Amino acid sequence: MNRLLVIIDPQNDFMNSPQHQGSLAIDEAYADMERLVRYIKKDMPEQILVTLDSHTVNHIAHKLWWTNKSGNHPAPFTVISVDDVEQGRWQGKDHEHSLWYVRELEKQGNYELIIWPDHCIMDTPGHQVVSILAETLTWWENETGKKVRYLRKGMNDYTEHYSALKAEVVIDEETDMNTELVQYMNKFDQIEFAGEASSHCVGNTLVHFLNEIPAVDAQKVIVLENATSPVPNCEHMAEAFFKQAKEKGVQFKRI
Ligand SMILES: [Zn+2]
Repeated sequence: MNRLLVIIDPQNDFMNSPQHQGSLAIDEAYADMERLVRYIKKDMPEQILVTLDSHTVNHIAHKLWWTNKSGNHPAPFTVISVDDVEQGRWQGKDHEHSLWYVRELEKQGNYELIIWPDHCIMDTPGHQVVSILAETLTWWENETGKKVRYLRKGMNDYTEHYSALKAEVVIDEETDMNTELVQYMNKFDQIEFAGEASSHCVGNTLVHFLNEIPAVDAQKVIVLENATSPVPNCEHMAEAFFKQAKEKGVQFKRI
């Protein structure tokens, strides 16, 4: 059987590893990766796709973008509402875009704008794949002679890109649905999902994928449920994504 393993954002900043304290660490994430490493060695997927959350410090969901009347930047996890921007409590770098952006988010009703701790800044240690997994991916390449497919997402400072397939707010062709990637993924007989975080990037990628493929193909999708974890206090979001997936016929498997 031709199996694809999709590993969403298995990067240092999402976990506390022995080598790196992640800026947006999820308690269980490193244990997820330890399980995933054992699984890859034992089960040998035919192909592996790894997505990499990739930002600059100037990103719209990072502190530098926003300033209040006292000239301070928001603390991590500050929620910025439409009202905050309209009333000038938080002023964005590009006011017109900032206002449009929070209004679009509100219209969609999925997420409010959350200021994350600076994370996955490109080419810093936090952006790199956690070393136990990076070593295993290199091992897999050596064993199979194949290449891991790496995909960076989130490089556009003007929008959040939780899903590997489409931005939260689409602003150009690059941030719109990646149909080429959907088609690539759906060519496999089985598509397995793991990585971080189930409440955001895994959940969104999974649901976007299911929305793009024929309903019958949902049965080919498997979530490796103990190789993914939610952002703390966002467990309900992960549950909502997984409920939708189960209703469509996605299987859940512990590894
Ligand atoms: Zn991010």
